[in-house]
Amino acid sequence: MFGKGSKLYSIATAKCPKCHEGDLFLDPNPYHLKNMEKMHVNCPVCQQPSEPEPNFYYGAMYVSYAYTVALFVATYIVSALFIGLGMWQTVSILGGVLVLLGPYLFRLSRITYLNFFVKYDPNAAPKAGH
Ligand SMILES: [Zn+2]
Repeated sequence: MFGKGSKLYSIATAKCPKCHEGDLFLDPNPYHLKNMEKMHVNCPVCQQPSEPEPNFYYGAMYVSYAYTVALFVATYIVSALFIGLGMWQTVSILGGVLVLLGPYLFRLSRITYLNFFVKYDPNAAPKAGH
């Protein structure tokens, strides 16, 4: 389920959703903030455009919102219910988690969103060398 060919593979590894070989982002590290949103125009392996139409990633904001809510709920459950922290401690931890994971969530949202529209094609990547 997490192997190549599943959308989770593409999302977890930030690989092109079509070929699952090419990297979508120029810089593999999302914490190099000045490169955070720089993507290849086309997948270097299968030429899938990383932005199929202008302003494509407006919709990714909703994905980002969903991830943020899920993250908040998970953080809240752990810190307030399991560890038993007070409200302000929990709020500080939520803020910290959001800042720490922000760049990662940004990319995760984009890749998830692109995966909604682009299907895996096992023949997209050239087979030579495999
Ligand atoms: Zn590709």
